[in-house]
Amino acid sequence: MSDPIENILVTGGAGYIGSHVVRDLGEQGYNPIVFDNLSTGNRDFVLYGDFIKGDLEDIYSITKIIKKYKIKSVIHFAAFIAVEESVNKPIKYYNNNFFNSLNLIKSCVENGVENFVFSSTAAVYGIPEELPVKENSQLNPVNPYGRSKMFTELLLKDISCINKNFNYIALRYFNVAGADKKLRIGQKYENPTHLITLALRTALGEYESLKIFGTDYNTPDGTAIRDYIHIDDLSNAHILCLDHLKKKKNNEVFNCGYGKGYSVSEVVNTVKKVTKINIKTVNSKRREGDPPILIADSNLIKDKLGWRPKHNDLELIINSAWEWEKKLKKKENK
Ligand code: UDP
Repeated sequence: MSDPIENILVTGGAGYIGSHVVRDLGEQGYNPIVFDNLSTGNRDFVLYGDFIKGDLEDIYSITKIIKKYKIKSVIHFAAFIAVEESVNKPIKYYNNNFFNSLNLIKSCVENGVENFVFSSTAAVYGIPEELPVKENSQLNPVNPYGRSKMFTELLLKDISCINKNFNYIALRYFNVAGADKKLRIGQKYENPTHLITLALRTALGEYESLKIFGTDYNTPDGTAIRDYIHIDDLSNAHILCLDHLKKKKNNEVFNCGYGKGYSVSEVVNTVKKVTKINIKTVNSKRREGDPPILIADSNLIKDKLGWRPKHNDLELIINSAWEWEKKLKKKENK
């Protein structure tokens, strides 16, 4: 008899990154159980498995699901992600990103979950002492978003020390963009804050201009530098993490980026090149909470998990996001 299909609990699985991982889980033969409050997610982005609308505040529901589906593995995305908003609304961020994670992790440990993949962020580093930044670099987040993620990482570390059956991997994402090749899923926020999305929507005429947040950073062109990664490479990293946890049963922290940085100006120029539209930009003051440069050293995930990114090309990433944005726009106009 073949093994029964394994259920994987995915919190925030209707969101941008979560929905791509759910797609990959489904394609790999897993049964994703998506738990999402739809605050920023989309029900129709869940391409595989079961969907349950719910909030992580509700520990009772989460526990019921873990028991009902005999969950052994969890991938935890559900979180708020906007750096500037976190500066202005710290309680919102600590509450959802930390306190609700604690609720979930507590229930996991008490109900026999063994493998936990956590979506963390490069924001835990703050202003890195070395670039590209390595996983063992000092954690010194400069905004509540980064701190809320760092505290959850520390919690996972402490809990896994005393619960030998509970193992975790924290994946520290750098800047994710792009969409599913078949354009079924992609970034869809009512109020987007990410650079590539805003630049493309400016190209589509949704905004008159794009603000450049800070032109006085200590970088070659004065604008902030980030490591942009295609969603499909990031999604694949989650599958590798899950497989690794199931086989090796050890705790890990991995960066996930390409190791090459692009400035805001370089991104804007690439957006102009890909879209063939000359978007208007307005130089503005720095955005609160933004570090000047974040670039990943991702050798660890390559060495330990054999992660091999396939879309390491800014033009390709922006083109993928552009196709998606055009599709969204077309749908809206129908
Ligand atoms: N940025 C910008 N204009 C925008 C949005 C973002 O200049 O309209 C800058 C932002 O200050 C940062 C970089 O682009 O330096 C990437 O920001 P994003 O919000 O995409 O990702 P983050 O690095 O904050 O996670």
